[in-house]
Amino acid sequence: MPAFDYAPAPESRDLANLKPSYRPFIGGEFVDGGGEPLKSVNPATEEVLAEVGTADANDLDAAVRAARTAFEKTWGPMPGSERAKYLFRIARLVQERSRELAVLETLDNGKPITESRDSDLPLVAAHFFYHAGWADKLDYAGYGPGPKPLGVAGQIIPWNFPLLMLAWKIAPALATGNTVVLKPAETTPLTALVFADICRQAGLPAGVVNIVPGAGDLGAKLVSHPGVDKIAFTGSTEVGKLIQREVAGTPKRLTLELGGKAANVVFDDAPLDQAVEGIVNGIFFNQGHVCCAGSRLLVQESVADELLEKLRHRISTLRLGDPLDKNTDVGAINSREQLDKIRELAESGEAEGAQRWTSPCPVPDRGFFFAPTVFSGVHQSMRIAREEIFGPVLSVLTFRTPDEAVAKANNTPYGLSAGIWSEKGSRILWMANRLRAGVVWANTFNRFDPAAPFGGYQESGFGREGGRTGLEGYLDV
Ligand code: NDP
Repeated sequence: MPAFDYAPAPESRDLANLKPSYRPFIGGEFVDGGGEPLKSVNPATEEVLAEVGTADANDLDAAVRAARTAFEKTWGPMPGSERAKYLFRIARLVQERSRELAVLETLDNGKPITESRDSDLPLVAAHFFYHAGWADKLDYAGYGPGPKPLGVAGQIIPWNFPLLMLAWKIAPALATGNTVVLKPAETTPLTALVFADICRQAGLPAGVVNIVPGAGDLGAKLVSHPGVDKIAFTGSTEVGKLIQREVAGTPKRLTLELGGKAANVVFDDAPLDQAVEGIVNGIFFNQGHVCCAGSRLLVQESVADELLEKLRHRISTLRLGDPLDKNTDVGAINSREQLDKIRELAESGEAEGAQRWTSPCPVPDRGFFFAPTVFSGVHQSMRIAREEIFGPVLSVLTFRTPDEAVAKANNTPYGLSAGIWSEKGSRILWMANRLRAGVVWANTFNRFDPAAPFGGYQESGFGREGGRTGLEGYLDV
């Protein structure tokens, strides 16, 4: 039961400045794409938000040509100190238009407004500010004097953090002197096209950023396009593997940021109330649509019952519903396909013998919603312990010794992130050194900073985004 009753506090959807239609952005202009238009849907209500023009093969050629021309004529030769000014301008415009972007993101994606407003948008601006700072200092980044950009970057992003993933891709590419053709996800193209308008507002030279909405086949065409020098992809491991096969044997550079099945490890000396907050954030932030979500809770057996009781109590206070309501903690699942996938995996958990507990929160009749769910008694062989559910579903396993915790945490084909909860610094360092994960959080979870490199091992991909290391993916070094 919720601890308090809250009066509705909806953010105004008018702030999104929603248009009936949006168009691809190529060579500095919004153009009529030759592809079949798609309809972007509000996952919280299932209403159509807008029609979006998509790019066909000819449009893609035009976008790659525009990016090449900009790379050779304007952006590539421009001194870093000048490029920095554009990036600063974009960062400031993102801040100025952040309410509009936050509401639009929430409408298109289903995430709570408090998350788009307080997490996504500040991080988007921070990424542009941070990389603006690098643009004139590349000589001192440790890659030798005058590191060269790669050329035209083809970038493909998913639907879970539409604008933030765009920022992670575009900011470093531009700071290092590359130009960009970016394909947003089919279900969340709107904020990318408002970002295109921000590029125009910032006076960014034509062709430096091109946004081509479309489905997966357009993404595949971008990957195989001979005019592209680098592919940066965030999305599923399955598609990442296809892309790696396609790029193999070509001179194209590739970075892949793929799925995860992170272990959040709680030792018996951990501050349990604090750990509960971190576990909740780790799996219910953004409805669990997070590649680094702490989707496997590994808890030391001696405190498992106590922790689970605290956890269920805390989860039952989470409010699920209208993502535009400022009181909402858990919003909508991004699409019916994703909802079906979550349901199917949750059913497999029950069928394989795990104990299911679901928050008693009310669930709206309309829209795509899934109540926060915890599975206990999970074994490592179960699908819910192995596969990325990408939803608000936590799988709880137990361990007795630190060695067992390491073995179980690493028993995954992924390796993106992990969390450790303990009051002993020595144990945290011991454990962090043994975890095969790109990011390890200690006594916290889901902390992001543009200065901190992010990326994975094994089937979570390769290459890093953010920080000095993230520049490497866009430089010929
Ligand atoms: P995808 O990997 O299919 O989509 C990511 C992006 O790649 C989208 O822009 C998509 O376009 C595009 N794409 C799809 N197929 C190809 C292709 N053959 N070549 C190039 N680009 C392509 O993820 P889904 O949205 O289908 O989600 C499926 C599952 O993937 C989720 O359930 C989740 O488990 C996982 N996932 C993981 C993410 C992560 O950050 N690790 C992010 C998103 C999903 P389009 O949108 O048109 O399909």
